[in-house]
Amino acid sequence: MNDSSYIGRFAPTPSGYLHFGSLVAALASWLDARAVGGTWLVRMEDIDPPREAPGAQAAILNTLESYGLEWDGEVVYQSLRHEAYAEVLERLFRQGLAYACTCSRKQLEGYNGVYPGLCRNAGHSRENAAIRLRVPELVYHFDDRVQGHFQQHLGREVGDFVIRRRDGLYAYQLAVVLDDAWQGVTDIVRGADLLDNTPRQLYLQELLGLAQPRYLHVPLIVQPDGHKLGKSYRSPPLAADQATALLLRALRALGQTTEAGMEQGTPAEVLAHAALHWNPDILPRRLSVPEADLR
Ligand code: GLU
Ligand code: ZN
Repeated sequence: MNDSSYIGRFAPTPSGYLHFGSLVAALASWLDARAVGGTWLVRMEDIDPPREAPGAQAAILNTLESYGLEWDGEVVYQSLRHEAYAEVLERLFRQGLAYACTCSRKQLEGYNGVYPGLCRNAGHSRENAAIRLRVPELVYHFDDRVQGHFQQHLGREVGDFVIRRRDGLYAYQLAVVLDDAWQGVTDIVRGADLLDNTPRQLYLQELLGLAQPRYLHVPLIVQPDGHKLGKSYRSPPLAADQATALLLRALRALGQTTEAGMEQGTPAEVLAHAALHWNPDILPRRLSVPEADLR
């Protein structure tokens, strides 16, 4: 199949080096785009400087390159997109859809992460306050290409969510929706840890009149204890001389068939073969896979 209108993307957060789990997500996104002759973009989600690991941006791009995951065009940096975010935030605020929240972490304890709307009608000034988006008492749902039907009641399960933090930093939910639309992304392939963020993003797309992309959430690679693989400073970058072996392991994580003898191939050869045989229908329909099962 050829679909040159396909635009996919990989959107790493430079809070650490790429680890095996992010390689799996990047590979799935790359393959899904390349298998149909589509475009594949890389966007650096560098909107949270305090959580950024020094050197992580360059290391992530280096790893993608040495693993043969070539992208199209220039890398987009969210740190250069603040004006666009500010403009939309201003509009939502003026429309009465967003409001200032001065709640402390302590005040929000005991609500299981669902914001109880304490500041909804308080009319706080925006200074030194977080900005939250009002959510409707509605279910948002979509059909994920792998995980199937997914739904969430925004009012009951999420509550009004933060789109700009108290320290002035923009929230992931706002930035990701604006940039995917701005870059014309048609297909989002990413880790299943973001599945339950998607309904918030659908709501934002609806509010802002933006097109809804297709979604495919791949299983998250976890440690034997079920924890996420560390994105911590200390996990070293994926070694360039391990590229072929780790790409093959990532393909197994994605349920794709590999052939004997491929261990001797170059990363480019492994990728070319994988793109030719890419079959999203055999992806494991699971939210997580322990890394130890793949060795
Ligand atoms: N930057 C996000 C992350 O690394 C991913 C964003 C996305 O794919 O929507 O977790
Ligand atoms: Zn509040």
